[in-house]
Amino acid sequence: MLTGRGLVKRYGQQHALAGVDIDVSAGEVLAIVGPSGSGKTTLLHVLAGILRADEGRIALDGRRIDQLGEAGRSELRRTEFGFVFQSGMLVAELTAEENVALPLLLGGRDRTTATDAAREWLGRLGLAGKEQRRPGELSGGEAQRVAIARAIAHRPKVIFADEPTGALDTRTGHATVHALIDSARTTNTAVVIVTHDRELAASVPRTVAIRDGAIDQAVPAA
Ligand code: ADP
Ligand code: MG
Repeated sequence: MLTGRGLVKRYGQQHALAGVDIDVSAGEVLAIVGPSGSGKTTLLHVLAGILRADEGRIALDGRRIDQLGEAGRSELRRTEFGFVFQSGMLVAELTAEENVALPLLLGGRDRTTATDAAREWLGRLGLAGKEQRRPGELSGGEAQRVAIARAIAHRPKVIFADEPTGALDTRTGHATVHALIDSARTTNTAVVIVTHDRELAASVPRTVAIRDGAIDQAVPAA
């Protein structure tokens, strides 16, 4: 469904990605693991159209997306992809419900549809009754669940999560990621999780290890 071939990204002389091939199937859950500085975030950003690779091709359902301009990539990110970052990146002034509804409104949905979808997803993620709270009135784990609801409410093909447990304790972090995985299963959304948490990586169906910007074949899939 999402394929990257020969992906290269350079920063000056340094190769952040040194030729990566990767495939993500529809609805699958994939962890990308590797040491700090190995290129995980760069790979995620290149696949998601946040960054442009210097070389290589990326296709979504057979359609090249690496050649899209800024407007096309922005549209792609808004419609086909969802994002969960290390710590929520929620809008502090908006309620949980408004945070989840916002991308739907920006995508052209009317207010009733957007609000209904936001409430439904917040409920599914165990946040019923907390729809009117602002991010500062939620725990870290709850805020991450709001971020998950926001990432999935428009039913994207892929959710990209970069160290989504980084700001949480281990137990809350694992529960949060599994809430993401369970949600994604209901919409056949693929999930690509960047993590350096080996235990978490071992609990998802497939792991790709990366080292010095390249797939590390020495590390067996979990
Ligand atoms: P990871 O997410 O695995 O920690 P990154 O993908 O963030 O690794 O970084 C890979 C390499 O690219 C690192 O050596 C990092 O220093 C370098 N790098 C990442 N972003 C930039 C940037 N904007 N400018 C220069 N170098 C960068
Ligand atoms: Mg990173």
